[in-house]
Amino acid sequence: MQYRNFGLVNTIEPLKSALRGGFAIPAFNAYNMETITAIISAARLTHSPVIIAISESALKYMGADMLIGMISGAKITPNERIALHLDHGSSVESCMRAIDIGFSSVMLDFSKYDFDDNMTATSDIAKYAHARDVSVESELGQLSGIEDENTHNTKSTYTDPESVAEFVKHTKTDSLAVAIGTSHGAYKRKSPDEKLRFDILQQIQEQIPYTPLVLHGASSIPEFLVNEINEFGGNIKNAMGITPEQLIFAATKTNICKINIDSDLRLATTAAIRKYLSQHPENINPREYLSAGHDMVRNTCIFLIREIFHSNDKI
Ligand SMILES: [Zn+2]
Repeated sequence: MQYRNFGLVNTIEPLKSALRGGFAIPAFNAYNMETITAIISAARLTHSPVIIAISESALKYMGADMLIGMISGAKITPNERIALHLDHGSSVESCMRAIDIGFSSVMLDFSKYDFDDNMTATSDIAKYAHARDVSVESELGQLSGIEDENTHNTKSTYTDPESVAEFVKHTKTDSLAVAIGTSHGAYKRKSPDEKLRFDILQQIQEQIPYTPLVLHGASSIPEFLVNEINEFGGNIKNAMGITPEQLIFAATKTNICKINIDSDLRLATTAAIRKYLSQHPENINPREYLSAGHDMVRNTCIFLIREIFHSNDKI
C-alpha cells in the first residue's frame, strides 16, 4: 500500500526545506497508539513537519497491520507534511517490506559492515525505493550505545569526511547519518565537557553540500524527567544527553536536517506514568495513566520542536 494513500509525504520533501531554511525536522520514535497520536498532535499544534520513526522492534511489537491502521486512522493530510520512516533497517529485504506496506522513507543501517558492502546494499535499496517515490537514509561511521536489540554497538568511529562524496554519488542515498560523537541510549557522555565534533561535520558538508545530514542518538535527556522518574521509584543514574546548545547549533547552523529523538520520549512516558500511579495509588484505570504518558510525550515533542528544532510554523 503506497504511503500517499495515508496522506504521508516523501521524507525528502521536508528534509529539503529544512536544508534551505536553517531548521531541522524532528524524527520522533513511536511504538504504540499513545506515542503516534502524541507526535501527530504536537506537529499539528506547532505547525511543524514531523517524521514518525519506527524501529524494526517497534514494528514487530505493533504488527504492520496495526501500525498502518493507526496511521490511516490519524487522517493525515499531505499539507501537514508528516512522514513515516523505518529507523535502522537491518537488511535490504526489511526495507523493501517497509516500503511495500506504506513507509515514506527507510534507513538501511549497514554502518557496521565494510564500506563496499554498505555501498552495494544502499545502492540496491535506493533503486527499489526511488522507483516507488520513497527516499533512503544510510549511515557512515558508527555510533555506540544501545537503542534496542537491532542497534547494540560497543564500537564507535567518526564518519570519514574523505569517503562521503563517493558514497553519496555511487549509492544515490537521499540523506546520510553521520557519526560525530552522539550515541544511542540515555548515557551519551561520560563527562559534561564531551563535545560533538562539529569540525568533522564541517568537513563532511563541504564534500556533500546538497545532501541532508542526519543526527542519531541525539536526545538531550532533560534532567527534570530523570529526576521525576527517580523521585517516584525509578533508578536512573548518571544519564547524560547532548546539550541543548549543541543541538540548536546542529539544527539551525549546519546541514543536519533530521535529528532522531527516542530516549527523551521514553523518559517522558515513564516519568508521567510513575508520577501518576504514585499520586493516585487507588487508580487502576489504564486509560488515565496512559493519558498522562501521552500528554507528557506530546508536551516534550512541542518543547523540542520550538526550542531545539525551530521547525514550528513551517507549514
Ligand atoms: Zn539511531
